Amino acid sequence: MKVIVLGCGIIGTSSAWFLKKQGHDVTVIDRQPGPAQETSFANGCQISVSHAEPWANPSAPLKVLKWLGKEDAPLLFRPRAELLQWLWGLQFLRECTPARTANNIRQIVAISEYSRQTLRALRAETGIQYDCLTKGILHFYTDQKEFDNSLPAAKLMRDLGCPRESIAADEVVRREPALAGIRDKIVGGDYTDTDESGDVYQFTTGLADRARAAGVQFQFNTTITRLLTEGTGAAAKITGVEIIDAAGRHSVLKADAFVMAMGSHAQALLKPVGISLMIYPGKGYSATYRITRPELAPTVSLTDDGYKLVVSRLGDRLRVAGTCEINGYGRDLNTALCAAITRRTRELFPDACDYENPVYWTGLRPLTPSNVPYIGKTRFDNLFLNTGHGTLGWTMGAGSGRAIADIVSGLTPEVDFAFTGIARNQQKNLLQPA
Ligand SMILES: Cc1cc2nc3c(=O)[nH]c(=O)nc-3n(C[C@H](O)[C@H](O)[C@H](O)COP(=O)(O)OP(=O)(O)OC[C@H]3O[C@@H](n4cnc5c(N)ncnc54)[C@H](O)[C@@H]3O)c2cc1C
Repeated sequence: MKVIVLGCGIIGTSSAWFLKKQGHDVTVIDRQPGPAQETSFANGCQISVSHAEPWANPSAPLKVLKWLGKEDAPLLFRPRAELLQWLWGLQFLRECTPARTANNIRQIVAISEYSRQTLRALRAETGIQYDCLTKGILHFYTDQKEFDNSLPAAKLMRDLGCPRESIAADEVVRREPALAGIRDKIVGGDYTDTDESGDVYQFTTGLADRARAAGVQFQFNTTITRLLTEGTGAAAKITGVEIIDAAGRHSVLKADAFVMAMGSHAQALLKPVGISLMIYPGKGYSATYRITRPELAPTVSLTDDGYKLVVSRLGDRLRVAGTCEINGYGRDLNTALCAAITRRTRELFPDACDYENPVYWTGLRPLTPSNVPYIGKTRFDNLFLNTGHGTLGWTMGAGSGRAIADIVSGLTPEVDFAFTGIARNQQKNLLQPA
């Protein structure tokens, strides 16, 4: 079957890889000059199954209210005259009930764990080098109340098969000695040794290279402007995608099936064909520093709970990422936020990095209110979704690609997840703990 994948971030690239493995004739289209140039470029780089709690949880409404108008808030909702933003906000509130949060956590853990296992297998199969570290993720707390609140969440993760252990402050520093300088501020932590970190950009470009060698076609510098449809009701299908290529020429590309993997921009193409997804961009920041004293920089991937920052060591670089602004599609850098990230990183690891020459970046997380992505079918029987991976697209990426390839091929994915447009009783529950 000829399949066109729309978008070449981590999600589109892994979809293309697994579709090719299933024997399809695959083309990937992206407006950028290469793979992983947008949200999959410089994120926090954590493969974080252990922190699957979505931002929408029972404690969120109060926190979001408290943070309204606070420039350096970890999650900042900036109200706009935009219907989608308000509808998204209302649905976010709806997802904060204990029952919905618990169900969302189960979904996120299932696809994330499946994805972590898939990524490990892919790494072994392809040998892609991406500054991967399999030293776990250590989440540390500097506020007693937040640490106390984390204990039931950690237990829930353990109940779901994810080995997230709650640990005392001394144990936090024993696991990552680079935190010794702030030992007196740390009140506790949790540690999951099965979690990992690694450079999402290097991985995605490495996978795209191997996919190309296996016969996948990549068409870069090509903007997708429209989905073309024919028929109605059960007979409705997508006949092609309208594109503007690198030379500025309009044309239509035809295929038997189409996989939507355009992250935050999926909505713009789907809405005109009558598919409304609840995806809104959540702008996040990262800073990358050159490590000058390797012995003082962390090697375990970290989450600084108080500042909602994640820290990953990528070879001789330190990546620090965080913040989320719900405020449209702009990607401009707010210099105050950039400075706040550097200030905090310097406080944590004062002599580890060159803080004078940071590389700052912003990206748009494709956020669903629940943080559960759309993976599955649509009312067009040849249009498939793999989008809306929010805060965890790298974590869920490999597994989402594998699952959508199964769905496109008419197979049942080997993970118990609420796939879009597929009844749960037609799904398997085959996920095995690692
Ligand atoms: C600051 C920050 C930190 C993060 N940290 C982590 C982390 O530690 N762990 C984790 O798991 N996740 C993390 N994430 C989330 C993760 O980065 C995203 O979920 C993931 O990158 C989404 O991948 P994607 O392929 O769906 O989207 P993208 O990477 O954005 O890919 C979509 C592609 O579609 C293309 N496209 C869009 N519109 C068009 C068009 N009209 N025509 C042609 N092409 C088009 C774009 O060029 C792009 O290449 C973080 C995100 C941010 C912003």
